[in-house]
Parts: sequence; C-alpha cells; structure tokens
Amino acid sequence: MTEIAPTTPVDLLGLEPDALRHELEGHFEARGQKPYRARQVARWLYETDVRSFDEMTDLPAGERVALAEAFAIGEPEIDTVQVSSDGTAKHLWRLGDEERVESVLIPTEDRLTLCLSSQAGCAMGCTFCATGWSGFQRHLTAGEIVAQYRASRRWAAENGYGPITNIVYMGMGEPLANRPAVHASLTILNQGFEVGARRITVSTVGVVPGILELARRPEQFKLALSLHSPDSTLRQELIPLEKRWPLPELIQALEAFDDAGGRRITFEYTMIRGVNDAPELAPRLAELAYRLHAFVNLIPFNPIPWQDWGPSKPERIRHFADVLRERGVDVAVREPRGRDIDAACGQLRANALVQIED
Ligand code: SF4
Repeated sequence: MTEIAPTTPVDLLGLEPDALRHELEGHFEARGQKPYRARQVARWLYETDVRSFDEMTDLPAGERVALAEAFAIGEPEIDTVQVSSDGTAKHLWRLGDEERVESVLIPTEDRLTLCLSSQAGCAMGCTFCATGWSGFQRHLTAGEIVAQYRASRRWAAENGYGPITNIVYMGMGEPLANRPAVHASLTILNQGFEVGARRITVSTVGVVPGILELARRPEQFKLALSLHSPDSTLRQELIPLEKRWPLPELIQALEAFDDAGGRRITFEYTMIRGVNDAPELAPRLAELAYRLHAFVNLIPFNPIPWQDWGPSKPERIRHFADVLRERGVDVAVREPRGRDIDAACGQLRANALVQIED
C-alpha cells in the first residue's frame, strides 16, 4: 500500500498578493464559490489581525472549515515580551520548530518602528553583535518574517502603542543573505499590508549582490549599511564579510543604489572606544558619506558581556558629528533604546535605532 505523505497547509501570509489571490480563487472555484471570496480572505489577512479562519465571519461556516483544512495563517507564539522603561518592547517569538527570533517595537514621538528578524541566528559573525556570536540556525520563510509584523501590529494595538509606521530589517540575521524570503516579504508588506516602501528599510553588513538586487527593484525600499569603519582593514576585524566584498566593491554597489534614485542610503556607525573612533577616521567617513549622499547615524556602542569594549566618549562622538557636518554630511547621534531589557536589534543588539532618516 502506498503511504500518502501528509501535506503541510500553505501559509497564506507567505504568499505574495498575486499568488495569494490565484491560490484562493483556485480553491474557491473548485468548491463552486465565487472569486470574490478570495478578496474577502485577503481583507481579513491584511486589514485585521484575526488568528483563525473561523473568525472570518462574512464567509459561510463550511468555507471557513475548508479554508482551515487547506491553508494556515502563520502565527508565532509569544515566548516572552519585555517592555523597557522607555517604552521599547522586545518580543521573543517561538516558531513552529521551536526556533526563537526577536522583534522590537520602538516608539518615538511621531512613529512606531518595528525591527524584525530575517534569520534565526546569523552566520556573519560580526564581532560587535550578540546574534553573530550565537551562530546560524536557519533562514526564516517570508511568512515567518511577515508574521512578526502582523503579530506585533496586534500586540501594539492591544497595548496602546498605535499603528506601526516604519519597519527595519535589522533584527537577527543578515536580510540580504536570505534574499528569496526577504524579497517576497517586502512585496507582501508593501502590496498586501500597504506599508509604504519608503517606510521600510533593509539593513545589511554589505552583501553586494543583494544591494544590487535591491537597487533594481522599482519600489523605493531604503537601505542602511552597517559601515562601522571607512577603513577596509579595520572593517574586516569588525565584519568578516568585508573580506568577501571589500569596501571598494561595496562602494560600487552603493553607487548603483544611489544612482537608482529617490532613496537615500543610511550609514550605521557604532562608535567603539579605542576601536573605530580615531579622529583620523572621521574625515574618511565624511568623504565616503558625502560621495554617496548618505545620512550617518552615530551610535554609541552598548557593551556586550564577552567583549571588553565600551562606547566612545561623548566628546569623541561630538567630534565625529562636527567633522561630518562641516563637510556637508547629515548626521544624527542615536540614543540606545531599551537598554534595561537588552532590546536590541540583532545587528546592533542593544543599540536599537530610534529612527532611520526620512
Ligand atoms: S550584525 Fe547583522 S550580519 Fe553581523 S552578525 Fe549581527 S545579525 Fe549578523
């Protein structure tokens, strides 16, 4: 007797809107239902935060049962939530296979930014990053990335945070090392959930093919580069990927992104005392940022247990900011958020960014 393998229900949250419509219309057609039923389901998915098909109350009961047999709505479980005294909220999500990933909600006066993860762990091994030290487990699917947004949106609404206005791919993982899922999730968030492309930032440590792919997308998704040094040799010590795509090659890719127009690059520069804050690096950083029309975020390093590094002194950070300004570069010094709960995005760990430049 042939054994029939059980089929895994398709996660609707992981389908791009066109594929979702196609899949659902096929499903309803086979059941003798009108195609508009697909639009009803899409509305429930994108415009509400219902957890189950059973809550889709404008569908007949029999159709809700049939949907639940054929499809799933990806939903991570909350493992823990920690809320900082400054309102920053860190979720640790438990995925279906027990992997755990973090996302962070960062409220400021006029926006609510969600920092989400694209991988469980990370293979890049950046020396300043807690995620880098914990190793790589696996890529997230598009559905798992999008589900962090949907579940965070529900939590934010239930807890008086209001709507999520901005998204940064800056949690655990290197997004451009998981490009198929990240590209699909960008499309779903933008076209399905209608989050404006200019409100979504992909942050990378410098995956050149990924930057070029992002540059070719017609939507104006924004790019943040974890630069951390304008000097290739020093950068290698902080970001091992620099050996694979050294600064000259990386700069070419950034130029292509800049030339694609309409969206400014942001440089993230974590300032580590005695490591990457030598005064002579400031003009080199300014020159690079000026050339690429980049906005620079200077972020005081937040210590991690296994490194005896500390943040640069405030006067050194001011010096960098002054040099950048004098040379015509827009710069901001960012306050670490959620320090008391270790609420950081994977890349910068406890240095979750308040905002990416508009
Ligand atoms: S900084 Fe980003 S790319 Fe580097 S190890 Fe951390 S999560 Fe990975």
